[in-house]
Amino acid sequence: MSYAVRVKPGSKVDLASIDPNANGGLNKEEGEARIAVLAKELDELEDLMFFAGKQSMLLVLQGMDTSGKDGTIRFLFQHMNAPSAKVASFKVPTPIERAHDFLWRVHSQTPGSGEWVIFNRSHYEDVLVVRVHELVPKAVWSRRYDHINAFEAVVAEANTIIVKCFLHIDKDEQESRLLAREQEVEKSWKLSVGDWKEREFWDDYQAAYEDALSKCSTEVAAWHVIPANRKWFRNLAILELLVETLRPYKAGWLESLEALGESAKAELAEYKATLT
Ligand code: ADP
Repeated sequence: MSYAVRVKPGSKVDLASIDPNANGGLNKEEGEARIAVLAKELDELEDLMFFAGKQSMLLVLQGMDTSGKDGTIRFLFQHMNAPSAKVASFKVPTPIERAHDFLWRVHSQTPGSGEWVIFNRSHYEDVLVVRVHELVPKAVWSRRYDHINAFEAVVAEANTIIVKCFLHIDKDEQESRLLAREQEVEKSWKLSVGDWKEREFWDDYQAAYEDALSKCSTEVAAWHVIPANRKWFRNLAILELLVETLRPYKAGWLESLEALGESAKAELAEYKATLT
């Protein structure tokens, strides 16, 4: 059984029914042992994907403030050696971004063949923060779910593997993380009164997330809910999800790399023959 909870396309998500404290029946030590094994496999898969150059990978990370998006990215980069992996962060749109359709800034950041891109926040902000704070009328944001599904279908058709993760924490966990930040003098740059203000909209955000996850989980771009109160389990669940997603491609990548190797050998032999 997978640790990430896949949102079955067409189903309605009820976040309250998914335990953010889940640990898969493991303790931290067991989880970390499992992480070590899976991390090696991810490293190998991601290398093969890069050199085979057939698919690309888009990992979308969303979650409430303090849910661990940055920590997840740090963790993945510790365990990956992707020569072409990068992060695209989406913040409040700039005037130029705002002068375009909401997908414009996102589409230019999608990965090319062989590449990995992690979205730290994403086009989903346009049906989350934008909806919660009524930054555009409902008539506008409510049409975006279909636009998002059409956009992701285009990206997937260009051989991009799309993995979307919602980091699921509860309100108490957020409070303790915000309070803990206040104690970390060396990280005071992370403090933001905005985080406390956004927290007042917790229920509205949960409802907006439930709709986004329900309406935009498709066969080619499914959403996964990641229990994220325990950081080690969050890391394990995402790592396992990535490995399980990439594993079926391995045989095809090895095959095309072997074919590439054969043709390189033949070319070399032909060249050497001209030297004698
Ligand atoms: P983070 O919280 O991701 O570490 P920031 O503190 O810079 O980074 O927050 C980025 C902010 O940008 C978030 O509050 C997010 O809701 C906001 N944001 C992202 N995309 C949009 C958007 N399309 N419209 C309005 N606000 C957005």
